[in-house]
Amino acid sequence: MPTPGTSGKSLISCRIRAEERGAWKLNIPCILPNQGTTEALGIMITTHREIVDYWARHEDECGLSVDWAEAEKLCWRCAHKRLLQRCHIIPRSLGGEESPSNLVLLCAQCHGEAPNVADPAFMWTWLRAHAVPFYGTYWQQRGVREYELIFGEKPFVGLSHSDELMERVTATLGDLFARTSTHWGQGKINPSTWAWAMRQVDRAARHDA
Ligand SMILES: [Zn+2]
Repeated sequence: MPTPGTSGKSLISCRIRAEERGAWKLNIPCILPNQGTTEALGIMITTHREIVDYWARHEDECGLSVDWAEAEKLCWRCAHKRLLQRCHIIPRSLGGEESPSNLVLLCAQCHGEAPNVADPAFMWTWLRAHAVPFYGTYWQQRGVREYELIFGEKPFVGLSHSDELMERVTATLGDLFARTSTHWGQGKINPSTWAWAMRQVDRAARHDA
């Protein structure tokens, strides 16, 4: 018997055996990177291309974070370029199928916050509610909302631009990079970290203002 962890294949085999015993709850087809058919598992996996092609024909991209032309590379909620996972619209635990009509593509962070309900229309309501007009701004906007929740006000209110202000902000930003990080597997600064960073800049900007 191979030692678990010595290779990807033996690790997956151990997971399958554990899942057969009911001990492993990880949804393997859901989180595997896009490999097309996963023959080693004996499971037919819908490819990312098939999922994008299906929804490009069936769902209007209006109001979504991503255009269908870029939906194979960008998370459909946060529109960041990340490793994408298949997210079941109706969860497998509620009878959802492994087919393009029941799948969307999300990064791990957004996948963890996606709705788990037997109401397929709600997935699109949720995606449109989180849509941002510009790529690369989603997590900063979430940081602003987190800031308001924590501090009871918006950041940077009442500050007006000046060279002196920008010097203070620039000096603060240099220090912040060394004092922030990400959770394992997320890859991007999360909303609460954004809120803390914006608070440091806000405080620095108001110093002697
Ligand atoms: Zn995302």
